[in-house]
Amino acid sequence: MLQPSPNNFAFKTIRLKLVVYVGLILFGGFLATNILSYQISKNTIRNTVLENELPLSSNTIYSEIQTDLLRPIFISSLMANDTFLRDWVINGEQDPDLMVRYLESIRDKYNAFTSYFISAQTHNYYHFSGLARTLVVGAPKDEWFFRAAKMDEDYEINIDFNDEQDNALTIYINYRVLDFKNNFIGIAGVGLGLESVAKMISSYQENFRRTIYFVGKEGDIHLDSGAAAHRAGNIYKISGLMDLAAKILSTNRGAFTYKRGNDTILLTTRYIPELKWHLLVELSESQATQDLWESFLTNLAIGLAVIILTIVLISYTVNLFQSRLEEMASTDKLTGLGNRQTFEIVINQALSQFARSPTPFSLILFDVDNFKFINDTYGHLVGDHVLQMMADLAREKTRQSDIICRWGGEEFIVLAPNCALADANRLAENIRTSIMESRFVTKNPNQQITISAGVAEILENEMVDQIVGRADRALYAAKQNGRNRVENA
Ligand code: GH3
Ligand code: MG
Ligand code: MG
Repeated sequence: MLQPSPNNFAFKTIRLKLVVYVGLILFGGFLATNILSYQISKNTIRNTVLENELPLSSNTIYSEIQTDLLRPIFISSLMANDTFLRDWVINGEQDPDLMVRYLESIRDKYNAFTSYFISAQTHNYYHFSGLARTLVVGAPKDEWFFRAAKMDEDYEINIDFNDEQDNALTIYINYRVLDFKNNFIGIAGVGLGLESVAKMISSYQENFRRTIYFVGKEGDIHLDSGAAAHRAGNIYKISGLMDLAAKILSTNRGAFTYKRGNDTILLTTRYIPELKWHLLVELSESQATQDLWESFLTNLAIGLAVIILTIVLISYTVNLFQSRLEEMASTDKLTGLGNRQTFEIVINQALSQFARSPTPFSLILFDVDNFKFINDTYGHLVGDHVLQMMADLAREKTRQSDIICRWGGEEFIVLAPNCALADANRLAENIRTSIMESRFVTKNPNQQITISAGVAEILENEMVDQIVGRADRALYAAKQNGRNRVENA
């Protein structure tokens, strides 16, 4: 029945403001705490990775390398101290077949990839499969022999990928062989697959997303676990790393961070004296904190859902209270009819609609006759009850579209839309007779209760006060003319 009040717009603005402010406060607070805890956790993870996880990885790799190195060093040492080998060289390298058979048996026995001996006297390169060739002084690929011949250490270690064996990681030990008077007579050695180190490195790569590589003292990258970023060959040439290169190469152990694209790379280094290489173990921060990022997003989604739910609840509650308030403000408590305020809203709407399309509407103003007497005779409570029953009766007699309001004490007003004077008069008569004929709950069964009514149909360009005034004057006339009657304006 009640149309949207002019206050509705203001209410909607207030509600929107409330929802926006509450939403902003909740979202802002929520986002701030989440970002803060994300940042703190991220820093913790970064420190743990740099201080514990990566060093642990390099320790494990290092001890694996040490284990893997023992066997080839031991085999090469056996060869270098073998009396057969030394006698054979000292005796002028007669019958190369003997040496080849010896190398073959070493290879078979220790399951080596290769075994070899290079003579200092003849520069002959003996291989387990025969006399391979003679080294050339000054040739770059043979340079290593002449270097190793002069070194102070008993042996040197070379690690490389073996082209002939599926690119397997292979370790070569070049062991200096001395005669019985400690003169240098050649180099013996074996090549063995570094299988467990290789396996470990690739498992770190796959399972823990670490990038592992070795860097020589010039910054040259010897082995990497397949990270494309490091194919450049030298850490002095890799952007981000180049600024750290000098530092990395001058420390035994280090922890660094650098930028690669948008990502931060966490890096720890460790010097491996046996290889004279630095072991570098890297992890990208985004990978280290991927779980954290995911839980951050999940938290955010949950928070958003909670905020939306809260806002919906607030909206709903505010709407509920608002409609309760509106109802309380617009309804007469005693009769449940609209009050005078409601009537004013309704008649103003009717007037503006009439201005747009002039379909007639009418007002009926009615007042209980001699109500003072009812009150005085039967008491106020009975009077109240009479008013309630009258309201019910009037409601019963009017159409759904008619609007009845309590105008004042025992006065009521009906707005009948789409209703000309004659029809309104008929309606007023109908209400009047039905009230008259009903026996209200007074103690006296013969007590009749009657009303007088004034009816007015809207005229062109009329204002609220004018039409109500005409209805009121018609009501006054009805009272003057003896009560219990209807008068037209
Ligand atoms: P008339 O025929 O001239 O209208 O006579 P009347 O007695 O009805 O005169 P008047 O309109 O002056 O008196 C109205 C009375 O209605 C006065 C007041 O005590 C009573 N009244 C007004 N509101 C209420 C109400 O809510 N409950 C009850 N019980 N009485 C009310
Ligand atoms: Mg009155
Ligand atoms: Mg009266």
